[in-house]
Amino acid sequence: MTTEYRRAPRRRVVNIERVGRWGKLEYLHTLDCGHTESRKRAARTEDIACLFCLQTEARDQEIRSLTGGQATPLTAYEDGPSLADEETKIEKVKSTLAARLGVPVDAIGLVVEDSAGALVVKSCVVYLSAADVTRLTSPR
Ligand SMILES: [Zn+2]
Repeated sequence: MTTEYRRAPRRRVVNIERVGRWGKLEYLHTLDCGHTESRKRAARTEDIACLFCLQTEARDQEIRSLTGGQATPLTAYEDGPSLADEETKIEKVKSTLAARLGVPVDAIGLVVEDSAGALVVKSCVVYLSAADVTRLTSPR
């Protein structure tokens, strides 16, 4: 048994099905979590470790650590400002900047950071074409 198996949550065996042919037999253990574990031997215990559940839990934890240990991504925007509102706000910042500089909106590269569901402008890169440079540097 690997370490991974020891860390895996144990699930009740609902059904064991023997598949394959002699020498290549596999026992498919249907577990109460809905997953199927394949083993070389039929389990003698009522419950066995489920690697799928372990992988799912590891993924959940990974997602939680990415979001700063707060809520899962599905509920991350339930409280506080909605992401759509925040994106509209950023779009407005972009178009205002573009209008002030006289460049297309595409030329504005905003670096935005998500701070607890609110989008905060960190910096901005503006692409200036040769014509823009001439226009902006020529004396008025
Ligand atoms: Zn499972």
